[in-house]
Amino acid sequence: MGLCVDGHVLRGKNGNAGHAGHMFVSDNHDALCGCGNIGDVEGLIAGNAIARRFAEQGYADAATLLGAARAGEPAAALLVDDLCRIMGRTLYNLVVTLDLQRISVGGSVFWHHRDFLLPKVRSHIDGKLAALTHGFDLCAAGLGEKVGDYAALALVR
Ligand SMILES: [Zn+2]
Repeated sequence: MGLCVDGHVLRGKNGNAGHAGHMFVSDNHDALCGCGNIGDVEGLIAGNAIARRFAEQGYADAATLLGAARAGEPAAALLVDDLCRIMGRTLYNLVVTLDLQRISVGGSVFWHHRDFLLPKVRSHIDGKLAALTHGFDLCAAGLGEKVGDYAALALVR
């Protein structure tokens, strides 16, 4: 994640402002993130986390899990709903903390299933604390699955 304030990328002291993927949100012991944290957002819902957490349940990767959920498989649908709850609550916390106008969501897993996932994630934001969420816009990033690449380049510039 990254933050853009008044048209400028917010950098922070280490160039990582807005990197909310490493916020702790769970005590799940199966949520080891690449950064070493256990129970942060990326450790729970990133594409590689999905593969790591749910392979034993028959979902070798995010595409398999999302495909099964979209096909109406109950166990997969429950897992996807739980992942969307984590992401929705994370984004809600950012919206109310920073009084955000818009969050654009990209990344490969989201981009390929945005029509399916966006309403689920949005349901955890819309209607909550209307003074801060009314008028907020959650949308698919215009750069699609390449948004992370462009964001990294923006930090290098
Ligand atoms: Zn992490």
